[in-house]
Amino acid sequence: MISNSVYKELWRKILQGLAEALPANQVITWFSNSAVLSINDGVFNLGVPTSFARDWIANRYVEKILDIAKKYAPDVQKLEVVIDGALADPADGRAVKIDELQNFLPQKKIRKLPNKQEIKIVTNNGGSGNGAIFSRALNPKYTLDNFIVGKDNRLAHAASMAVSNRPGSEYNPLFIYGGVGLGKTHLLQAVGNEILKNFPDKIVVYITSEQFMNEIVAAIQKFQAREFKLKYRSVDCFIVDDIQFIAQKDRTQEEFFHTFNELYHNGRQIILSSDRPPKELAGIDDRLKSRFGSGMVVEVYFPDYETRIAILQRKCQEQGVILPSEVIEFIASNSHESIRELEGILTQAIAETKLENSTPTIRSLAARLFKMNKNGNLVGISAEEVSRKLTVRTPEDVIQLVAGYFRIPSHEIIGQIRRKEVLIPRQLAMYLIYEILHSSLDSIGHYFGGKNHTTVLHACNKIRIELQSDKKLVADMHALKKEMGL
Ligand code: ADP
Ligand code: MG
Repeated sequence: MISNSVYKELWRKILQGLAEALPANQVITWFSNSAVLSINDGVFNLGVPTSFARDWIANRYVEKILDIAKKYAPDVQKLEVVIDGALADPADGRAVKIDELQNFLPQKKIRKLPNKQEIKIVTNNGGSGNGAIFSRALNPKYTLDNFIVGKDNRLAHAASMAVSNRPGSEYNPLFIYGGVGLGKTHLLQAVGNEILKNFPDKIVVYITSEQFMNEIVAAIQKFQAREFKLKYRSVDCFIVDDIQFIAQKDRTQEEFFHTFNELYHNGRQIILSSDRPPKELAGIDDRLKSRFGSGMVVEVYFPDYETRIAILQRKCQEQGVILPSEVIEFIASNSHESIRELEGILTQAIAETKLENSTPTIRSLAARLFKMNKNGNLVGISAEEVSRKLTVRTPEDVIQLVAGYFRIPSHEIIGQIRRKEVLIPRQLAMYLIYEILHSSLDSIGHYFGGKNHTTVLHACNKIRIELQSDKKLVADMHALKKEMGL
């Protein structure tokens, strides 16, 4: 009998070879928590924790693994990939874990973004003594560098670059408009950050139009309208997000008009965003509309598929997470409106990776999308598969799932064979049907070839007891529940 540590050492060497031959993300995705379980009569038994990894490796990497394996163990002829749920257990010493895998890979440093900072701005010519203003913190996570440029937002990005390099010159005001979640705030904040980087002495203020309005209301209540007029005079770059909200707010529009003119005539940069172009801003004074449209007006659009992929990849990189490419493609194909939505789905996938220490699959994501009410047609997964995944289903479905997972024909699962390899999956199937579908003991007995309800009860109790000590069984059960979208 060869010891575990010998197998592990061998597997490490093979993984090192694989790491040279495959992209890093594939190695991490498919080979985390894998182990050589045994080598008998030239058959190399590779264990992985999920059925997904098993199928994937069995379909794509067998040749490659065998090639490398033969260098170290020349008598290996055949590779079998098997599921062993316990390998995912952090305490399982047989498996090569993700941290160790990362050591094999070419090192890529992932930049950590600094925390959000507050910038205090003090006006020195306010005169009233309480003219100190605070910018609404620019969030350093928004930069022009991490704004992904595709053909649809190239113009908006280029205009933002130009303004960052030469604030107050040709593109003034810069007016960016478009639907929700398409990157307007990102661009506005990024320009602010960039200007501060290029010109550290300049004063940059980012504010939403609602905050601007609230300040005016407060100033009026405190009889400080005059101070308010002076307040923004020293600002070099005045950024107002979502300007559409000042519609119908006459007093706010009035004050804004004065501030705008004052800054504009002193060559200060003004940047605005809105959900629609200046001309279409109903409820906003014509003189403001014409000023809004007098500089550079650019629209942001929902980006094309390739750009969406690039955005997702970038966000993964920022978070230090690697997802299988088909998961990224699935997300990109199934978001249709906004980048915020795209990020929302990605966040779910990343949470799944981090919390459950497992790889999200298209099916698990489909379940989440469905729960988020994003049903309808999901691209990249068949309707049956979605519904198989999602409707908490019939006992037959559970039997099929368990059969597929353990690679035992379903007639054996429901049959009479009492071999341990069949008995445990059978009992587990009964347990899942009882606990999750809440079928009665009698009806479960019926599905399992007419067994007595006490047999079913015994099976459920047996599993319940085993789950307290058998780590592999726990891992199998988690994997199965996950496959059921739970
Ligand atoms: P809006 O202000 O238009 O509603 P946001 O600027 O808040 O949209 O963008 C929503 C999210 O999408 C943000 O997290 C932003 O960073 C991200 N985002 C939008 N466009 C891009 C892009 N081209 N590249 C990278 N991230 C983007
Ligand atoms: Mg916004």
